[in-house]
Amino acid sequence: MLIDTHCHLDAAEFDADREAVIEAARGQGVAGFLVPAVAADNFAAVARLSAANPDCAHAYGIHPLYVKQARDEDVDVLRDRLADRTAVAVGEIGLDGYVVDGDLPRQERFLEVQLKLAVAFGLPVVLHIRRAQDRVLKALRRHRPPGGIAHAFNGSRQQAEAFIGLGFKLGFGGAMTYSGSRRIRELAATLPLSVIVLETDAPDIAPAWGAGQRNDPANIRRMAGVLADLRGMDVGEVIEATGANALAAIPGLGRLRRGRAPGSDCGQ
Ligand SMILES: [Zn+2]
Repeated sequence: MLIDTHCHLDAAEFDADREAVIEAARGQGVAGFLVPAVAADNFAAVARLSAANPDCAHAYGIHPLYVKQARDEDVDVLRDRLADRTAVAVGEIGLDGYVVDGDLPRQERFLEVQLKLAVAFGLPVVLHIRRAQDRVLKALRRHRPPGGIAHAFNGSRQQAEAFIGLGFKLGFGGAMTYSGSRRIRELAATLPLSVIVLETDAPDIAPAWGAGQRNDPANIRRMAGVLADLRGMDVGEVIEATGANALAAIPGLGRLRRGRAPGSDCGQ
């Protein structure tokens, strides 16, 4: 099963042609889309997407780069939303130490409380980690959520092994398609296939063949081909294994059904 485990289909970049983008990805064989929220403002939008599309699932969370503009009460909004039991994960959450005025202490407070919610609801987490691998690992060891996905992974082998040891799968996304991304490609080629999932991060992190353009989830098939080439494997095997890994990391994806939304007239 070809699954894009990380795409922001609710983003404004897709407002003009969202249905066509989803349909184009289906045309490439994409059978599942996981759409993480980034702020309380877009919880309703991600929920609407999965209500309208049986092959979409959503996660609720407050992204580290949205913590600055978030209100403290947004955590209560998140708790209420999670109680609707429609989300398959808590995400996108984490830490971003790259952005200069990112207010890491506030990001850490939001991460900790969201990890507690993941534990309370028994949900896996979708992690954003940039220049903060060890701090995120420390928070995970404290709270022990039931695994999930370390998205856009860009750490060392030792850090990769630490996430894997805590029950996480790793996504490399578009960065894996650039020949200059040596460390990421080396990890993608040599880590056990059982710990890798496919993701685009659309509309961000465009692959090498679409550099500077909007990234679409249809690119995931070619990314699967890149991973297969790096590992010297058949692309079909890579798709099958990474799909199973996605389901293992985010069990709620098991309820995705291949097909179109009721009432869609695209079935002919
Ligand atoms: Zn993201």
